[in-house]
Amino acid sequence: MVGQCESCGRDDERVAPVRRVYVTPPSWDREERVEVVAEPEAWCGVCREHYPHQLVDAD
Ligand SMILES: [Zn+2]
Repeated sequence: MVGQCESCGRDDERVAPVRRVYVTPPSWDREERVEVVAEPEAWCGVCREHYPHQLVDAD
């Protein structure tokens, strides 16, 4: 679908529903943390290439 990307704000992009994933890298005193945002967002291809996310099933 074509619309506005909710990550970078660009218009007229081919966007797909994703869930943003926050990754906190591990360090010496803690393990890696991966947090998935529950609310889906529409992202363009560039953002899907550059930022961690999960594709939302289109069902
Ligand atoms: Zn974008």
